[in-house]
Amino acid sequence: MSSPKFSDLSLAAPLLEALTGLGYETPSPIQQACIPALLNGEDVLGMAQTGTGKTAAFALPLLQKIDIERTHPQALVLAPTRELAVQVAEALQAYARHMRGFHVLPIYGGQSYTLQLRGLKRGPHVIVGTPGRIRDHIARGTLDLSSIQMLVLDEADEMLRMGFVEEVEAIMAETPAERQTALFSATMPEQIRRITKRYMRDPRELKIAAKTSTVENIDQNYWLVSGVNKLDALTRLLETESYDGVIIFARTKTATAEVAEKLEARGYAAAALNGDMNQAMRERTVQRLKNGQLDIVVATDVAARGLDVERISLVVNYDIPLDTEAYVHRIGRTGRAGRSGKAILFVAPRERRLLKAIERATRQQIPSMDLPSRNRVTEVRINAFRERLVSVLNEDLDFYRDLSAKLVAELEQPPEQLAAALLFLAQQDKPLQLPPEPERPARGERPDRGDRPERSKRAKANFGDEVSWIRYRIEVGREDGLQVKHVVGAIANEADLDSRYIGHVKLHDDHTTVELPDGMPQELLNHFKQVRVCNKPMQMSTAEDQRGVGERPSKGGKKFGKGKPGAKKPHRKGPPRADSKAPRKESNAPRRRD
Ligand code: AMP
Repeated sequence: MSSPKFSDLSLAAPLLEALTGLGYETPSPIQQACIPALLNGEDVLGMAQTGTGKTAAFALPLLQKIDIERTHPQALVLAPTRELAVQVAEALQAYARHMRGFHVLPIYGGQSYTLQLRGLKRGPHVIVGTPGRIRDHIARGTLDLSSIQMLVLDEADEMLRMGFVEEVEAIMAETPAERQTALFSATMPEQIRRITKRYMRDPRELKIAAKTSTVENIDQNYWLVSGVNKLDALTRLLETESYDGVIIFARTKTATAEVAEKLEARGYAAAALNGDMNQAMRERTVQRLKNGQLDIVVATDVAARGLDVERISLVVNYDIPLDTEAYVHRIGRTGRAGRSGKAILFVAPRERRLLKAIERATRQQIPSMDLPSRNRVTEVRINAFRERLVSVLNEDLDFYRDLSAKLVAELEQPPEQLAAALLFLAQQDKPLQLPPEPERPARGERPDRGDRPERSKRAKANFGDEVSWIRYRIEVGREDGLQVKHVVGAIANEADLDSRYIGHVKLHDDHTTVELPDGMPQELLNHFKQVRVCNKPMQMSTAEDQRGVGERPSKGGKKFGKGKPGAKKPHRKGPPRADSKAPRKESNAPRRRD
């Protein structure tokens, strides 16, 4: 079966070169659908979420249309948060690596205007920004959108949830009517439909419908990446799982080479299998896996397509696949010839939606699993060591027995002490114990997300659907020019927190109150003391901090909300509620999942 190629998508040579450099092997389904449509000048409505490759789906055609000689902004990408805006700008820069002179500028709230003005003066080709700040620049006359040819709305539903509709529409109205528009959204609420009808020209709707397929006789589990980096997690699994042959799937060619190399360094018979290798090399690798010279192959989807090796008993999805069909293909590499197989999937916290998509497509729930504990790994290592010991007990040990008796006498040590010292020496190269784990992080903290080492290592708060709300006070208020969206934006960005976990925000003249779920990591709360909004530190505190006594809003306790005190209970159990009312005024628009 031939797989789709980037080179079939009419992309320019510098872009293809950048993709090769990044190790992308094949376009994801959203990219296959979106790139030709955008290159063809059509408006696109993409139902796609993070992790499907949607950024490249719009970034590549966008870049292809840029005229480097012109120093006016030619494309504008709107994103709901600072974090996403920066991420998209970085992606554009990476894809434009071989477009000499290309310049992208991220623009978001919280950053100084002076800096942004300087950036704007340098004549960026593309601007990626959050709606609030972009609109401010338009109002100040510092940003001219009259030469925008392409407009992208990324995570449109999230912008809506954050109360940016008005800004988005105002910005759209500032761009030329003949511009091309691409809108991406994981969901399609009515308000977005309305925008598409009003501002888009007969948009091509691209929804990657996941084919459903069932996978039998394969025992599947997922591990939510946390606490241990993915490579260490992988080696823990390999040590404790019993397997015959293993195939590990990574997203890029570069990653396959890296993982294979690191496994080899840790003593495994492992090799990479990817599209950089010619057919003969690939066949040789598969042959070595078949005949047992190799136990582990680290592959990309394309290279492993159709791979039929009976002894593969374990598939590890080191990187979650970008589409659900790939998942089914991948795990189908085990459980061959009627044997049973096992499949483990690593899911980074931000990839949970992809996991859900896989579950829907395969019509089954994938149970979560814990990583084997340190003790378990130690136990396995001791057992293996014991086996080695037993296997030599019947050798001719006379010389060593005499020597040990002599050493016991000479060193005046009990035989156990001598045996312990020998064990210590024998295991120096491969310790029986894993090194101690770093100190346990505070509750809710995620010390290492495994997949995004470049990102902030700050604590992230994770909550389920059961939320009790705590009210916090921020020392910035209406008089400072604060609006609800500033508070939501700052908290959502700094805590990497889904906006549905930000409860009521109420603005007062000189301060503001905001509800956050109980159990926010202390480190984050401390951090919020310094985070600045409207050029002032938030100095976030709880009512407890304020009064020195434990005041926790509880059922029927302190109340606040719209209008006078007593209007709404700040403390609830249960999922954050859908609020049927449209956000009213900025002053107390409830931040709820819609
Ligand atoms: P996104 O959905 O745009 O957030 O992309 C998710 C991740 O997949 C990012 O780390 C991209 O670098 C990566 N990615 C996007 N497209 C491809 C592709 N065709 N092949 C491999 N990795 C990709």
